[in-house]
Amino acid sequence: MIEPEQRVQRHYWLPTPDPDKQAFVRHAFRGRRWESQASDDTVCGKQVAMAKPSEMDWCTAPTCTDCNETLIGEQRR
Ligand SMILES: [Zn+2]
Repeated sequence: MIEPEQRVQRHYWLPTPDPDKQAFVRHAFRGRRWESQASDDTVCGKQVAMAKPSEMDWCTAPTCTDCNETLIGEQRR
């Protein structure tokens, strides 16, 4: 069950090394912003290592479609 308060939960995007793809992918995370934690769970349910992304990572990392669809689905509910 998703409570109404959780529907408006904030999220942010951060390029992180994706353990499956061995490449940087821009995942969405719960919260206002990255608080320099070393790892976290993505919206699509993966645990990934986090580090300060370079400008290159922001430019080249593709957006995670699973995270995107999850967030869109939550907005429709
Ligand atoms: Zn994702």
